[in-house]
Amino acid sequence: MTDALHTPGPGNSPTQVAAQASAGPAAATQPRDTLLELSDLHVFYGNIEALKGISLNVGRGEVVTLIGSNGAGKSTTLRAISGTHKPRSGTVRLAGNEIQDLPAHEIVALGIAHSPEGRKVFSRMSVYENLQMGAFSRKGERIDADIERVYDLFPRLKERRSQKAGTLSGGEQQMLAMGRALMAQPSILLLDEPSMGLSPILTEQIFAIISSINEQGTTVLLVEQNALMALNAAHRGYVIQTGKIILADTAANLASNEQVRQAYLGEI
Ligand code: ATP
Repeated sequence: MTDALHTPGPGNSPTQVAAQASAGPAAATQPRDTLLELSDLHVFYGNIEALKGISLNVGRGEVVTLIGSNGAGKSTTLRAISGTHKPRSGTVRLAGNEIQDLPAHEIVALGIAHSPEGRKVFSRMSVYENLQMGAFSRKGERIDADIERVYDLFPRLKERRSQKAGTLSGGEQQMLAMGRALMAQPSILLLDEPSMGLSPILTEQIFAIISSINEQGTTVLLVEQNALMALNAAHRGYVIQTGKIILADTAANLASNEQVRQAYLGEI
């Protein structure tokens, strides 16, 4: 997909894509089977309006990325979905049902897991205990079998299973935050800045794992400042700027879009 950066094709001009976005996501960017749908979401912190009418959708089985600069509203969008910061108006629908007024623990139980920015693992608990905590919304057995599955994805966590989470490296804590979110058996995983603070090699590994999580059937909504990695991993993407969606398109088209390349891919 990186090739798309060097071969901007016809039909991807900034004007065209911007026009599509202003008319709502283009037909080509509408999923067939919508799992998550945000409509006209307005979110405030006190008097500050962080999201100014965000609408987006994520299809079952997709990886969708939300890219944008610092403070654009990416994390706030994920918080509004997971119920950790309630929107003032607008709707969040999961499989057609409105969830924006439900408490966060009910939203987890419905199948939305949030791996927040800055990892936020339980530092005094072991790796194993953190993973067990991730299954708090589930009643069933099979929790140990699922922990084994997380260990298959992240063998490093298995090696460190008895270690206190606070003593793990940054990359290992990121793996644990993702593994813990997966323990909720989500239908959709919200990932906030999974590459933050990681070396290029670890970042590559984390993105490879995101792809295998998706191949195993989990839908992913990914927030990233590393726009190139995110667009390489995603099927579709949205660009957010000061609380508004300014572009929506396939990941390949966004990666070859001049506007995106200049603003978010570090090209001048
Ligand atoms: P970053 O990658 O820097 O976190 P972001 O795109 O995720 O950027 P948000 O964290 O969603 O952006 O922030 C959106 C806006 O809301 C910013 O103006 C930010 O300053 C503000 N904001 C975020 N969290 C809070 C908070 N807890 N209290 C007040 N304002 C906040």
